Amino acid sequence: MNNIINGTEIAKIIKDEIKKNIEDLQGKKPCLAVVIVGDDYASHVYVKNKNKACEYVGIKSDTYFLDTNITEQDLLTLIEKLNNDDNVNGILVQLPLPNHINEKNILLKINPLKDVDGFHPYNIGMLSTNNSMLKSCTPAGCIELLKRYNVDIKGKNALVIGRSNIVGKPLSMMLLNEDATVTTAHTKTKNLEYLTKQADIIIVAIGVANFLKPHMIKEGAILIDVGMNRDNDKLCGDIDFSCSQKASLITPVPGGVGPMTITMLMKNCLIAYKIQNNMNV
Ligand code: NAP
Repeated sequence: MNNIINGTEIAKIIKDEIKKNIEDLQGKKPCLAVVIVGDDYASHVYVKNKNKACEYVGIKSDTYFLDTNITEQDLLTLIEKLNNDDNVNGILVQLPLPNHINEKNILLKINPLKDVDGFHPYNIGMLSTNNSMLKSCTPAGCIELLKRYNVDIKGKNALVIGRSNIVGKPLSMMLLNEDATVTTAHTKTKNLEYLTKQADIIIVAIGVANFLKPHMIKEGAILIDVGMNRDNDKLCGDIDFSCSQKASLITPVPGGVGPMTITMLMKNCLIAYKIQNNMNV
């Protein structure tokens, strides 16, 4: 049995669905504004990939390349301008920002209805009350992969390892919203191996190469690997891929969760466009 989740294939299917949806807007195109400060190499690569995805699905993308020395006030002024521009449906500020800029102030400034990253406290609050429309992209991508592989999440023991604001915490809330019984683990968790052995679904988002080993999981567990690490210059995840011998489903790295993140961003841009134009989402 092929138990490898093909994130690249699922991402392509979803992008084609989004593309079709945008074609149905009869010439109108959602617009995403991407703001990038400084010259962080990884950020520039991400932005290039985002622009490529936008072009594929038919989203207009405007990128603002800003000098690394821009003041926080000038950045806030630009966001205010984008908030007030009816032609802009989504705003994404590429993280990390330089140290002299307070990330929290910037994210708070983005109009929650244009917050396509789903990081604004309004959207996190909506998620925690199971009312959210704009969800953080990577966790939403993990849930989408499970659903597209017909995993019945309801009632499952789901373990999320990692509790960051951008992945672990929203993921735990999303799994709870899907009626899983959720445990969130972190560096202070005691006897993690006891928890991993009980879990039907394990999602690892910690940034530690090959952390989850086969002896830590039960036979037939479903494993989702969010991690992106370099091991001897080779890209690898947080799950030792030899776990695939015991898992019923597993995402590879690369080609698992990775391609889903930008895809869910495209989906959020379309949702934001629809919300702003009083259309059914
Ligand atoms: P982060 O902000 O550094 O958070 C890491 C989390 O993992 C923290 O909650 C930390 O616990 C926990 N942790 C670290 N080591 C642990 C251990 N040994 N045992 C248990 N918990 C541990 O990381 P992040 O931004 O969530 O990213 C996590 C990974 O996902 C990284 O590899 C990142 O590159 C990757 N990522 C991938 C995508 C994608 O598109 N595929 C998107 C985002 C992130 P404490 O809270 O106790 O410190």
